[in-house]
Formats: sequence, structure tokens, C-alpha cells
Amino acid sequence: MQPRHVSATVLGIAQDGGRPQAGCVRQCCVDIHSDFSLHRSPVSIGVVGSDHSTHLFEATRKLASQFETWFDNDPEDGPLDTLWITHAHLGHVDGLGLFGREAMGASGLKLHCSNSFLQLMQATPAWNNLIQQGVFIPQVFSDKPIKPTIQSGFTITPIRVPHRDELSDTHAFLISGPSKRLLFLPDHDSWQETLTLHKCESIEEWFSKLSVDIALIDGTFWSLDEIPNRVVEEIPHPTVEETLQRLADKKINDVRIIFFHLNHTNPLHRSNSKEYQKVIEAGWEVAHEGMTLQL
Ligand SMILES: [Zn+2]
Ligand SMILES: [Zn+2]
Ligand SMILES: [Zn+2]
Repeated sequence: MQPRHVSATVLGIAQDGGRPQAGCVRQCCVDIHSDFSLHRSPVSIGVVGSDHSTHLFEATRKLASQFETWFDNDPEDGPLDTLWITHAHLGHVDGLGLFGREAMGASGLKLHCSNSFLQLMQATPAWNNLIQQGVFIPQVFSDKPIKPTIQSGFTITPIRVPHRDELSDTHAFLISGPSKRLLFLPDHDSWQETLTLHKCESIEEWFSKLSVDIALIDGTFWSLDEIPNRVVEEIPHPTVEETLQRLADKKINDVRIIFFHLNHTNPLHRSNSKEYQKVIEAGWEVAHEGMTLQL
């Protein structure tokens, strides 16, 4: 088979609860219930290697439509070669069971995760069964780059990020293709903590240290005004407002920064909102499902 370009397709842009979110009776969700074109899946990307191998990041409950989005935009065949998990929160893992006997009946799929996530899997009977039955072959990663298949033409480097770690630790992934490096950072608690952990003073410094060209980053909340009835300490994320302030406006040759992991309340779901315009005017982007990035 001819080698091909390496590319990543965005398969979901919503926060774990999806859009609309179960139980939400506010305008953000009530208004869109009957319009399926406005529904959004929890974050995920699919990467195809130069050897045509396929690599999925996160296992969401929307796998069926996400595979469709992926291969409609970047036609390839399964079966999937590897699966990568950032952390154990709902939207990132609630599709794990779909690989099992009740649904896809996968076999021998390499599941790349941290040691802490593997321990959680082994301690969770429904997930441990998937390992015992040979659906998944766990591959524990460290912070070293990994070639997912010998001829994939790209590497994946797990990067530890601080995030409420009640179930497992959390990683971002740096995906380094032949021409571009993509950072996949759906969740972290705050820039302060992430930058401190990586001994950087600014987002720019961290991205330049990692030689990032394109960054898909945590845009859960535009501002904390969106969630008046929730205890913010229970669900910390840097707001998009804060990220924009830290970034100032885009300069030539800067990284392409793309917000995703959007909560159902986030005005960035609507391209006619003033908040969406602010992001665009500053030179940044909001992800959309089906968006393909050449690496
Ligand atoms: Zn999440
Ligand atoms: Zn809502
Ligand atoms: Zn999370």
C-alpha cells in the first residue's frame, strides 16, 4: 500500500456531558433538542498514520457516529489499531464497553494508558472483564514518545497535566507527524498549575518548548458565569476568557490554537455569539466536528 499523509480528524468537541446535556432545561439545550445538526459529541480525535493505520483518542459513548465522521472525512478502513485514553472522567471512557462482546466484539486492541488508569481498569469489574476477555491489550505509557505502529510515520508523547485525579491521573498527548506537531489537551485544572508543573512562565513558552504547531485545548467554560449553581472547585478548568488574556492576540508564526471540550453552556457552541467572534478576532479558532488537520 502507498504511504499516505498523516492526519487527525476532530470527532467530538463537547465536554463530557455532550450537547445537549442530560437534564439541562436551560435555553442552551432545550432550544437544540430537536435539531440533531446542533448536537455535539464528547471530545475525541482519530489519527491515520502513513501506513493507513488508525488510532483513536478517547472512548466516548458516541463511537458509532464518531467513526462515521472520521471515515467520511478521511476515508480509511478499520479495524482500529490503537486506542489512547487521557484520563478516567465520564466522556473520555464511557464508550470502552462498546468494544466488548455486547457491541463491537473487538479483539486484541492495544489500549494505551497510564499505569494509574490501568490500575483503575483492573479494579473495575466491567472494565477488567474487557482485559480478561482479550478485547483490550493494555500498553502502559511513560513520558517517552511512542510509535503506535512501526510504519505509522508519527509518534505520540504523553504529557502529565494536573486535573482532579480522584480516579486516575491525566495526560495530554503530543502527536508529532512528519510536518506538524499537534497537542491534544482536553482537560486540565488551571494554567497556573500546568505551567508550574512544566516549569514555564507562559502558554507560549510551554508550546514553544514542545514545538507545538497546532493545539486543541480545554475550552470548557467561556466564563464561570455560565455555571451559577455549581461549586466551581469541583469542576476546575481555565476559562476561555482567561486563556485569551494570557495569549493576547495571535502573532504571525504563532501556534494555531483551537478551543474544544466545550460545556453545553459555552457560547462558543454558537458561531454567531459575540464570544465566538472574540476568539476569531484574536486569531484563534473553535474546533468543529469533522475538521481534519494534516500532520
Ligand atoms: Zn473531559
Ligand atoms: Zn444546556
Ligand atoms: Zn476530566
